[in-house]
Amino acid sequence: MPSDSEHRPFIENISAYALGTLDAEESSVLEAHLQTCASCRDELAAYRQISGGLLMAIPPKAPPESLRQRLRQHLPSAQKSNHPRRTWSFNQLALGFAVVVLLALNLFSLFQMQSYQYQQAKLTREIQTSQIALAMLAYPGTQSLAINAPSVSGALLLDKDRSIAVLIVWNLPQLKNSQTYQAWLVNPQGERTSAAIFDPDPDLPFTSVSITSTSELSVFSSLGVTVEPAGGSKQPTGQRIFRIDF
Ligand SMILES: [Zn+2]
Repeated sequence: MPSDSEHRPFIENISAYALGTLDAEESSVLEAHLQTCASCRDELAAYRQISGGLLMAIPPKAPPESLRQRLRQHLPSAQKSNHPRRTWSFNQLALGFAVVVLLALNLFSLFQMQSYQYQQAKLTREIQTSQIALAMLAYPGTQSLAINAPSVSGALLLDKDRSIAVLIVWNLPQLKNSQTYQAWLVNPQGERTSAAIFDPDPDLPFTSVSITSTSELSVFSSLGVTVEPAGGSKQPTGQRIFRIDF
């Protein structure tokens, strides 16, 4: 008596065999097994009883190959045979499609959420920068250094003692999506350190930017702003818009 795992693949092929849709090679393997296995023979007899009714209803003529192929693809037994097949059932395809759609929807929601979060973070930063600028203006130690440039105006609010600086620029032109403004702190040796990457808010006539540095601001002697590729550069590469000397 064959063990359970030994004849499981045969049981899976019995329904296809009963319908005459099992291929010749698998049929002969199954027939050999049926010689030795009473339980598979019973299984086949049961299938024949069921399918007998169906077969009586159609003319005793071999079904066209295309129909046999299609029928095979819909039989669960055809997909679980010993030989791996590349046929997918309608259910598998439908499930696969649903998974792809859900995945796409999830990615879209995630993208939207990240976009909202990004906008909110940007707004929060802008409000904080404006608050810092206001607080600095009210503080006696704050220097207000005017921007001397033909097309833009504004000031750098600088508190060297407490290492705080906010740049406020009016009428800064919008850039292409592939570009960004970048602020650089310059030390007396001429070495430049990135201090901010920013883009003008299209809804506001001015742009306020927090200037940040890992070193004390007192070690620097000027601040410059250049146009750089989106995302910023390690060192200035583009056109300089203005420079403010401390
Ligand atoms: Zn068996």
